Amino acid sequence: MNTEDHDEDSPAERKMRFLFQLRSRGVTDPRVLEAMEGIDRGLFIRGQFADRAYEDTPLPIPCGQTISQPSVVGLMTQALGPRPRDTVLEVGTGSGYQAAVLSGLCRRVYTVDRHRRLVQEAELIFQQLGLSNITAQVADGSRGLPDQAPFDRILVTAAAEDPPGPLLAQLKIGGIMVVPVGQSDAVQTLIRVTRTETGFDYDELRQVRFVPLVEGLGQT
Ligand code: SAH
Repeated sequence: MNTEDHDEDSPAERKMRFLFQLRSRGVTDPRVLEAMEGIDRGLFIRGQFADRAYEDTPLPIPCGQTISQPSVVGLMTQALGPRPRDTVLEVGTGSGYQAAVLSGLCRRVYTVDRHRRLVQEAELIFQQLGLSNITAQVADGSRGLPDQAPFDRILVTAAAEDPPGPLLAQLKIGGIMVVPVGQSDAVQTLIRVTRTETGFDYDELRQVRFVPLVEGLGQT
């Protein structure tokens, strides 16, 4: 039997295995684990890949995009360190899963994607789950969201060649941005940028692989 072949498991067993995988890959913050335990990743994946929702793997979603690997969602959320009163901007709504996880950890989440279809589908799931502190919007997130800025935390879930200037400018002093940086089709480095009184501090966290941050809006 393939180790990923657990079709016979009960939902409780699946959930336990899902959380075990997260912990074994370094997601140890109890608040993050609790938030991820509360959001069923299976709701965010439709079609032929739906039965793989509880594996620690990225999966295809519409518009040629991907839902991130759960352990990467956990590690990025942990690095971001959202606090209960924070306003957070996520760039790259995708399936909506990462925004739903953030929703339980902060006061307000703004999430933007360049594909209308992804924003609309994610909004339906947020409504279904009663996650009323998330606002999803079609926008080019490389420009940030000037009307709602500044933000306590910014999470970019698509890879940029450099941390986008408008996003740095929309970070509060003391604020943190987590962003994968590097050439779009290669391995990228996840970095954490902290805005100080006088500038920005940069920490390199780990290697990751994300779809590229693309300027402008998508066709769908
Ligand atoms: N966070 C998502 C996964 C994101 S995949 C999840 O939890 O499922 C990356 C997403 O970034 C894609 O949906 C892509 O459309 C979006 N994206 C790429 N460039 C963008 C831009 N400039 N502005 C907004 N969204 C962008």
